[in-house]
Amino acid sequence: MRELPTHPRRLAEGDRPAAVGPVNVSEYSRPQVISMRRGLITEIKPFPDRPGGLVPEPSHLAMPSFAEPHLHPDRAYVGSPRPPRSLEDAIETGARPEGYIPETAAERARKLFSTLSTNGATRARGHVGCHPEHIAAPRWEVMGEVREQMKKVMEIELVAFAVADTLTDREETSRLHRDLSMGRYQLIGGSPNHDSRPSESISSMMELAVRTGVEVDVHIDETLDPSRLLMDFALDEVERRRLEGRVSFSHCCLLSALGEQQTRSLARRMAGLGITVNCQPRTNLILHEYRVHSPRRALAPINLLIDEGVHVRLGVDNVDDTFCPFPTADPLEVGYLARLAGHLYDDAFLLSALSDGRSAPRSGERADLAFVEAKTLNEALSIRPARITMREGVVVASGSN
Ligand SMILES: [Zn+2]
Repeated sequence: MRELPTHPRRLAEGDRPAAVGPVNVSEYSRPQVISMRRGLITEIKPFPDRPGGLVPEPSHLAMPSFAEPHLHPDRAYVGSPRPPRSLEDAIETGARPEGYIPETAAERARKLFSTLSTNGATRARGHVGCHPEHIAAPRWEVMGEVREQMKKVMEIELVAFAVADTLTDREETSRLHRDLSMGRYQLIGGSPNHDSRPSESISSMMELAVRTGVEVDVHIDETLDPSRLLMDFALDEVERRRLEGRVSFSHCCLLSALGEQQTRSLARRMAGLGITVNCQPRTNLILHEYRVHSPRRALAPINLLIDEGVHVRLGVDNVDDTFCPFPTADPLEVGYLARLAGHLYDDAFLLSALSDGRSAPRSGERADLAFVEAKTLNEALSIRPARITMREGVVVASGSN
């Protein structure tokens, strides 16, 4: 007789169960058992009927573990004297000595990644400030060490977040070229709308990507001013340099302030060039339109982008810093905001946006799973209960934050 699957409540860190169940899985109406072997999901099948046909009520929802696409780990938990009044205000406060503390960056970043792990994430992408005054040289080492220390629980990608005109400075770009070529960062990024020569910054970033083979994740059009639109130029550059499928656009707030026709035409170009859009509802909602009557809410039009075939991802972004004062780092909270503020009602698209395109656990894929103590996705999103995080079939974290 085969052993019964492990009930999710009995899972503890370090466990490698052969099968977990009964659990609810989206797409299936009956409770399921998920079987695993050598780090992969081998089978998802209905929980066996007990005598009398009774199946115990599952306590957990099984979903793909989260792939957090957008963090600022070097700034996390640094605190803020007051909530931000605009993005420019947050940048200015963040540039003060108390807004960026290099000495404690590693400790704070570890806390951020551990929190995300407990909250169900097995992958995360962090933008690391490449500013002449940020993280004392050699700047990559601090976050590179954290990445190495966390590698058992989480796969971390680091973006060289080249801000404050570093992309148009010859010395800084040669340093970036060296760091990217050596694999110190896995992606190149920046916030060209805030550089003094935005188009040149974009060209320099794309050029670095071509020359070093890394991907691009750029904060773009994090503004509501149509005269600052950069996305069309960035799309030209992606096309011209043949970077299809290697570029993510983060924020894209301006898409919420353009007319529908122009927005759809940009979305269609993005879909054609395989651009991924990373939306960060928390910072988008808090940073824009402070004290404006009838405020636009700066959230990229998630459903329109999905309609036009763009890959959309949802990110936590800033955590308890001058850009966003909230200390939570929970993909389910971001999913809740996307559902509430962005009307992202489709379960499969929402899960896919939190898990880098995986809308449900599938046989044959890696057993990277989050078991959430909830009956429905809406309950999980709004209550954000305790969960168990599994990476390649091993429980790497459990509990609640
Ligand atoms: Zn950001």
